[in-house]
Amino acid sequence: MYSKLYEFLSADQINFNEEMKHHTTFNIGGPADVLVLPNSITDICMTVNFCRENNLAFILLGQGSNVLVRDKGIRGIVIKLGNGLNRFSIAGAEIYAEAGIKLSALALEAAEHSLSGLEFAEGIPGTLGGAVVMNAGAYNGEMKDLVYEVLAIDTAGNFKTFTWEQIKFEYRKSIFQEGEYIVLSARLHLHPGNRDDIMETMRDYARRRSEKQPLEQPSAGSTFRRPEGFYVGPIIEGLGLKGFAIGDAEVSSKHAGFIINRGSATAEDVINLIHYIQEKAREKHELNLVPEITIVGEE
Ligand SMILES: Cc1cc2nc3c(=O)[nH]c(=O)nc-3n(C[C@H](O)[C@H](O)[C@H](O)COP(=O)(O)OP(=O)(O)OC[C@H]3O[C@@H](n4cnc5c(N)ncnc54)[C@H](O)[C@@H]3O)c2cc1C
Repeated sequence: MYSKLYEFLSADQINFNEEMKHHTTFNIGGPADVLVLPNSITDICMTVNFCRENNLAFILLGQGSNVLVRDKGIRGIVIKLGNGLNRFSIAGAEIYAEAGIKLSALALEAAEHSLSGLEFAEGIPGTLGGAVVMNAGAYNGEMKDLVYEVLAIDTAGNFKTFTWEQIKFEYRKSIFQEGEYIVLSARLHLHPGNRDDIMETMRDYARRRSEKQPLEQPSAGSTFRRPEGFYVGPIIEGLGLKGFAIGDAEVSSKHAGFIINRGSATAEDVINLIHYIQEKAREKHELNLVPEITIVGEE
């Protein structure tokens, strides 16, 4: 059945039994049956049609910087953006970009064009598509402030243009998390600024990140969503869990809001550690910590 993929994709775009640990920033995850690397919107549409006709499941992946793939891997097809699909154009203060472009690369382009608004994206290691889906943000900025239109397709292959209202952005949330659409491209509205000031702000954010976050070790960023009125890091630290590990999954000693992979952590280690932290937070603070990381793959 999978041989039909070669009718519309080239051999280097199709990878069988691909270990997902090579495609996630956690460096964790078992094999996907097939990993497809689309170079164009047409490649995505054809792959989605193929899945529908053959009754196959598929999931989308950007840079894999907010996902934990289970140890048994993923049945069906993983469509990974981020290799192709990274064209963009800038006209005045408007940016059009395809979903696979790296968010930090787009932020740098905006800065080069003296456009302000995307400075917060410095150091967020994902694609534009993933950032829209997650409403990624930092330092008082988020995608919600900039994105005004998104082109997506649904699992039946129908294109739909979403307006800002239809995207329903909330804290680290958008309508695209319901999994019914693939984000193909987005339009962003920035505002004119001074190139040197923008660059300096981005350097400052990068400095602050490397001071506070365990960037030198594999992770998927903040493990939990921020509950209203609390910061998760200090809560976990207060539970005495900094440096606590299950297998090779460890609550970072640098920033307790991050779980890091010390080298050979399994997804099971990470999930067990998440459950342990949740249990302790419930016991001590009656607080329900909800993972921000998306967990995918065969249970
Ligand atoms: C060191 C580190 C620091 C981080 N700092 C921040 C931060 O400051 N702020 C923040 O918000 N996040 C942060 N993150 C988390 C992560 O980088 C962001 O959530 C990022 O936007 C995810 O993008 P991605 O391309 O890697 O998405 P992925 O992790 O690949 O995917 C995330 C989810 O979106 C779906 N998805 C991805 N692309 C598409 C698409 N085109 N269409 C439909 N669905 C799609 C996936 O199926 C998955 O459910 C950090 C992560 C790390 C490792």
